[in-house]
Amino acid sequence: MTPAQRTTLFERLRAANPAPTTELEYQTPFELLIAVILSAQATDRSVNAATRQLFPVARTPAQMLALGTSGLEPHIQHIGLYRTKAKNVLATCALLIERHGGEVPRSREALEALPGVGRKTANVVLNTAFGEPTIAVDTHIFRVANRTGLAPGKDVRQVEDRLLKAVPEPFRKDAHHWLILHGRYVCKARNPACPDCLIRDLCGFRRKTAAAPPPAKARRGRSGPRAL
Ligand code: SF4
Repeated sequence: MTPAQRTTLFERLRAANPAPTTELEYQTPFELLIAVILSAQATDRSVNAATRQLFPVARTPAQMLALGTSGLEPHIQHIGLYRTKAKNVLATCALLIERHGGEVPRSREALEALPGVGRKTANVVLNTAFGEPTIAVDTHIFRVANRTGLAPGKDVRQVEDRLLKAVPEPFRKDAHHWLILHGRYVCKARNPACPDCLIRDLCGFRRKTAAAPPPAKARRGRSGPRAL
């Protein structure tokens, strides 16, 4: 994909959604951090359902710690791997208090030192809470980057590094959300909506889906003999 095509691609995604953001519900960097930890291998919908109950009773690391395992787990029990996530959330809250005065740190190194926080989670927090031009490559972004030819790579780290070079600077901060939403709702894993895709002409995917044929009745109507 040429630099001009990359610019056109993001101009179109921006025109369709000028202010993209995460579908996780949060009000503070701390709430976002907890929501992202909970969201590993879970849907945003299941996390939002849990945090709507959880955050009103625990909006700070100290309040979360005060819940303890027995107080936290009932709020998140419908999220996959909730026992491990509860341990990580509580250990993270303890470290936030011990090392960062109860605040979410703004450095990658400090974020990745927190239990349950890997590179992807750190990228989401840096981007969405602090406005850094990072790109957290998840399964959706990995797929879109490879299918389109925007930043093909064999693993998430390679795709992330290539995206950071391929995405034109004015679009870098929001690229994460445009690509994730495009992968989630248009360039879906099993049945990408290529006929309706607004970057179809720029996309290098060889197996683009075709528009569904019209219903049989309509086809007969078009090709059959004209009514007299
Ligand atoms: S044309 Fe199809 S494969 Fe390419 S980005 Fe759009 S939905 Fe995905």
